[in-house]
Amino acid sequence: MNLQHYIGGEHVPSVSGATFTALEPATNEEYLTVSAGQAEDIEAAVAAARKAFTEGPWPKMPAQQRAGILRKIADAIEKRDDEIASLECRDTGLPITQARGQAHRAAQNFRFFADVITTLGEDVYRVASAQLNYVIRKPIGVAGLITPWNTPFMLETWKLAPALAAGCPVILKPAEWSPLSASLLPAIMEEAGVPAGVFNIVHGIGEEAGAALVAHPDVPIISFTGETTTGQIIMRNAADNLKTLSMELGGKSPLIIFDDADLDRALDAAVFGVFSLNGERCTASSRVLVQDTVYEEFVQRFAERASRVKVGAPDDPATELGALVHPEHYGRVMEYVQIGIDEGARLVAGGSRPDTLPVGNFLSATVFADVSPKMRIFQEEIFGPVVCVTPFSTEEEALELANDTRYGLAAYLWTNNLRRTHRLAQQIESGMLWVNSQNVRDLRTPFGGVKASGLGREGGKHSIDVYTESHIVHVATEDLPIPRFGAS
Ligand code: NAD
Repeated sequence: MNLQHYIGGEHVPSVSGATFTALEPATNEEYLTVSAGQAEDIEAAVAAARKAFTEGPWPKMPAQQRAGILRKIADAIEKRDDEIASLECRDTGLPITQARGQAHRAAQNFRFFADVITTLGEDVYRVASAQLNYVIRKPIGVAGLITPWNTPFMLETWKLAPALAAGCPVILKPAEWSPLSASLLPAIMEEAGVPAGVFNIVHGIGEEAGAALVAHPDVPIISFTGETTTGQIIMRNAADNLKTLSMELGGKSPLIIFDDADLDRALDAAVFGVFSLNGERCTASSRVLVQDTVYEEFVQRFAERASRVKVGAPDDPATELGALVHPEHYGRVMEYVQIGIDEGARLVAGGSRPDTLPVGNFLSATVFADVSPKMRIFQEEIFGPVVCVTPFSTEEEALELANDTRYGLAAYLWTNNLRRTHRLAQQIESGMLWVNSQNVRDLRTPFGGVKASGLGREGGKHSIDVYTESHIVHVATEDLPIPRFGAS
């Protein structure tokens, strides 16, 4: 199979003819050749998108009409959801049942932002009868969308839907390890009636295609999801052109369990929170902090459940944990398993490849207990099916441990003590907190992190804020005072 760029409504190879290959995570065999974009391909995509912005109907279209097209995109995704899920499963190693859920969410993203854009008002600030100040939201311009390899289709649509809803033409740069499912988007966009040039894809290596997109002066916004270190590079490279940046970065999220919690449900949430989506999940609960009164019992039950998580072929509907995305990433995760052992953490489940799966990037669900905050496995994002468990005795200690990393994306709290819940909610350093729940999203709420987990928020009207400029118009409705310099 051969994937090309999609620029100005045409499928095109790279100007240079360069390509790269993608591997299938379950076998590590090459199965895809992809055009490798460089600065000249980004230049062509920006020209097409810029033309759609300055001359095309998309930015000026009434919101109702754009929303109608977004709903048709959602229909076109739903029509193909089996195909999307099976491509994603093959390309990323995600279990097929979970890939189906992600395809469903992708359609929901478009329906949701169709509703947002048709219900969002613009603000008016009236100063008695003297002045009327009103805000015009304008699409910011060509949007550069740079996405990671985990749940690629869902995360691509999470950026595409609000950017298109706001009236911005877009250039999507999918991750090089998972470019396949994005190849369905051109047909989906065409079927829904998106004008040529409004939606563009340039594939390629981050340091080439991604960097050229970040450096381009006619792309005023970069919405990026990926590693914190990449985010730092992008911020530096975007500085020359003073771009708007939305940064969804890494995480090392705590799940805190007090002894008054519903421990059965907390256990379900802890297992699902780190082993779903292969543990390749930004909001994974990869540090489980447990009150010492129930610690030993919890560790034992957690290890027992983890050892029964079904690791297997991604396309098998019984599989709960599939293949990690790429041998390089697999090697990195396996290195962390060794680091945990060398640091003296107690390995109570997993830690190696299941005997039944001799090839591909498979790792059993892995649990380390007695992890201290000084250990690297406590501090660094592993982004795989590996979890740390750490005991605490008091609320103060739990809080200190929860906040003791550079990250601050999500946190999960399990307690039935109401006052403690609200005390901790105000002090936990994270963009998002779930109490007595796994990660159940309401798409209207602000999504994003603090500290090294990101800058800015997306979700609901916060996403529309990212892709629009607020233009404020001040109108005097009475004679406002004007100091008369030079009049006397
Ligand atoms: P990555 O940073 O390696 O790559 C992400 C994207 O950036 C890819 O498309 C890549 O090609 C591109 N890129 C790389 N270097 C670039 C450069 N110099 N200029 C421009 N683009 C460049 O991340 P990844 O390994 O693909 O994804 C995993 C990471 O993403 C994890 O850290 C995870 O926590 C994070 N993530 C965060 C969220 C969130 O919402 N906070 C969601 C999903 C994933």
